[in-house]
Amino acid sequence: MAGNRTFTMIKPDAVEDGHIGAILEQITASGFRIVAMKLTQMTTADAEEFYAIHKERPFFGELVEFMTRGPIVAAILEKENAVEDFRTLIGATNPEDAAEGTIRKKYAKNVGENAVHGSDSDENATIEGAFHFSGREMF
Ligand code: UDP
Repeated sequence: MAGNRTFTMIKPDAVEDGHIGAILEQITASGFRIVAMKLTQMTTADAEEFYAIHKERPFFGELVEFMTRGPIVAAILEKENAVEDFRTLIGATNPEDAAEGTIRKKYAKNVGENAVHGSDSDENATIEGAFHFSGREMF
């Protein structure tokens, strides 16, 4: 069943700004089924591990600080072609480059505080989902 699940986080900026409901509405209205979901807060160690691929990048420290500063909504989503379709729904990393109507265009502040995460491959969707959820939390 590869290809039908992705992992997302509504990031601290969008949670702080009260956009959880609107973002979940757009996600489910776009045909994604919620398989797992929770409000949680990442520790520094969690964020460093989750974003380990970026650890040499100049923005790494800022990214870890941002992602741990408040709660996030973590969720696993299901839909045919989930990873690609969800990346289309959220838009480009930098909201200045994101298409009209995308979640990042509507809610992101800048390239760092960009409202939502979406896995970039089926393999990472599985890894990232398992990072946040046990099998008993997936439905
Ligand atoms: N990021 C940042 N500055 C940059 C690029 C990325 O702070 O110049 C942050 C941003 O929150 C982004 C995350 O690092 O979502 C991961 O970056 P990636 O290039 O993987 O973008 P994404 O897959 O999230 O669109």
